[in-house]
Amino acid sequence: MTEPLHIALLAIHSSPIGTVGTGDTGGMSIYLLELARALANRGQKIDIFTRGLAPDDAPLVEYAANVRIIRLRVPGTERLSKSQLYNYLPDYQQEIEKFRRQHRADYHILHSNYWLSAVVGDRLQATWGCPHLIAFHTLAMSKIAARLDHSEDQLRVDEEGRLLACCDGVMVATAADRDQLAAHLGTDGAPLHLVQLGVDLEHFKPVPASKEYGLGKSHRPPVILFVGRFDPMKGADTAITALALLDEEIEPELHLVGGDGPESEAGQRLLELVSALGIQSRVRFIGTVDHTRMPEIYHQADIVVMPSYHESFGLVVLEALASGIPVAATPTGIAVEAIIPDINGYFATSGDARSLAGAMADALALARRQDPLIIRRSVQSYDWSRVADSVYSVYSGALLRSKIH
Ligand code: UDP
Repeated sequence: MTEPLHIALLAIHSSPIGTVGTGDTGGMSIYLLELARALANRGQKIDIFTRGLAPDDAPLVEYAANVRIIRLRVPGTERLSKSQLYNYLPDYQQEIEKFRRQHRADYHILHSNYWLSAVVGDRLQATWGCPHLIAFHTLAMSKIAARLDHSEDQLRVDEEGRLLACCDGVMVATAADRDQLAAHLGTDGAPLHLVQLGVDLEHFKPVPASKEYGLGKSHRPPVILFVGRFDPMKGADTAITALALLDEEIEPELHLVGGDGPESEAGQRLLELVSALGIQSRVRFIGTVDHTRMPEIYHQADIVVMPSYHESFGLVVLEALASGIPVAATPTGIAVEAIIPDINGYFATSGDARSLAGAMADALALARRQDPLIIRRSVQSYDWSRVADSVYSVYSGALLRSKIH
């Protein structure tokens, strides 16, 4: 295939150039931008369709050579939460179609991200006729399986079930999610493709300076870093409870990066927990940090904690390990494959603060003795150009199948 592919990436609910770490904007944004850039470097043309969040947002952003971000305007929807967007999806579909006609764009591939975009992609495919591939990023069924108290909209469950059966391929980021989906779908579903995510190894690397802490070596308390949205699935509350169980002699601090701020409902709940445990002086709410500044944040940490009930991938784990920092994590997402106990981190049981406290204490001890370059080596193969190669081969396979049928 010599002709460059023109790819429509749909990310309706969450703008890839929104504030990462807040609301619904997280790893998917990093994935879209890195993937688009890496595909464009191989000569492909990428248009990312997303919602405009403010009336004065430029409708078209030339993000990089061959990468455009198209911010669709559907008046009145700017402040709606993602769960309220469903009824407006036909409007977004119309806006994409209008753009395509105006710009005489002829797409070879529709690649939808998250179920809401997949609903739009499914309808567009009916007129465009090109293969429709979906990366759900997270599926309702995985969340329900991970947390018994998690409730999901039945509409989402039904739509995901329908889309899984009728699209041309589904990209999943971990072997665990692929196996779960394969068992669920049997022979009825679309082809499943394992496409792991990556990390910018140039951006995230260890600092050469020594970072020893605590007990006679320095007066600095060890820093445990949590990075993530304040979504109950992320388990920030387990990290806070675990901190209170840690040996007070070394008085570690917990720094929470991301989230919608302590004023948000989720932030308030975490603050209340911190007060109830009497550990206000040891927990810092840093707020969101621009992704370009995240390396500095990792450099100030001794370990990273990832206590999620479920991760469809968990970029934070790769970023921490690439920065040479041990991770204490629950066995979900890429942690299952990337963490090697005693080498680069430890596992804790999901939702179990005592088990997490043990993993954090072990990881703190590991941080003092392990060479950061050994930790980094464990993720050296996860670069974005490899991800783009995998995605490109999924596109090529889908195009080939569509020509045969
Ligand atoms: N992130 C960021 N600034 C913040 C909080 C998070 O840049 O204030 C980034 C973080 O570095 C990571 C991504 O957001 O790249 C979160 O991805 P992950 O896969 O861990 O979680 P998701 O949000 O996709 O559930």
